[in-house]
Amino acid sequence: MNRFTAPPKKNLGQHFLHERGVIEKIVLAVDPQPGDMLVEIGPGQGALTLPLLRKHGALTVIEFDRDLITPLMESAEGVGDLTIIHKDVLKVDFGKLAGESRIRLVGNLPYNISTPILFHVLEHADAIIDMHFMLQKEVVERMASAPGSKVYGRLSVMLQAVCRVVTLFDVAPGAFRPPPKVDSAVVRLLPKPAVEIGIADPVFFEALVRDAFGQRRKTLRNSVQAHCTAETILAAGLRPEARAEQLEVAEFIALANFLAAQQPVH
Ligand code: SAM
Repeated sequence: MNRFTAPPKKNLGQHFLHERGVIEKIVLAVDPQPGDMLVEIGPGQGALTLPLLRKHGALTVIEFDRDLITPLMESAEGVGDLTIIHKDVLKVDFGKLAGESRIRLVGNLPYNISTPILFHVLEHADAIIDMHFMLQKEVVERMASAPGSKVYGRLSVMLQAVCRVVTLFDVAPGAFRPPPKVDSAVVRLLPKPAVEIGIADPVFFEALVRDAFGQRRKTLRNSVQAHCTAETILAAGLRPEARAEQLEVAEFIALANFLAAQQPVH
């Protein structure tokens, strides 16, 4: 019986997965283990929810669309222990949700807000073991790209600074109903331990990266002049004439830490 009668909502990025092979590949990639605290963002009509629940027995989901809450609850009856958080994912405190444990996040994300979701979950990276997300393929390419690539930018640096990014596989539009206009891809994100990240001042780091890519064709000496002079960039071991798109993630971190260490202590 199909309990989901409401038509898909475009403003909520609703493209529901229906291709069994793709669903199986995602569940296999997640590979839930006993004791894992699994959390799914945007369960929709349960394409991933029910197979994960069948395999793992318990799952927490975060869904914003009220029309989906009751049908989801009903479809999970007798399958497993489903906890539904009816809320905008951008308002969820993942640190609080994790409590004493750490969570494993899964989701076929609403593409219209995928970047804000990524930045939001990264704020709570220490509460997260790993993430498996379906995203627009173009976004996954930006996330995983290296210096010199046309798509290397703020998202690449901010993500790779705190996570290992592993591109898993592509998914064609026909796997969804309705099909999106773009290709998709599944990515695995593995947050690095804080000691490995080594960013002295995360707020400053974010501001520096934002400014550096704000005008990506400009040289560093111009794009980050609000934060430092060409001499300081040189002193940090970088070329003031380099452009942001040429800098390794580690070089951004080194520059930000060098500048942070020069700030007067209040
Ligand atoms: N997981 C389902 C699947 O694979 O078929 C649905 C995926 S659909 C691309 C995205 C889901 O995210 C929809 O169920 C949508 O209602 C939900 N969603 C959209 N914006 C949201 C938000 N701000 N917070 C939580 N869920 C949201």
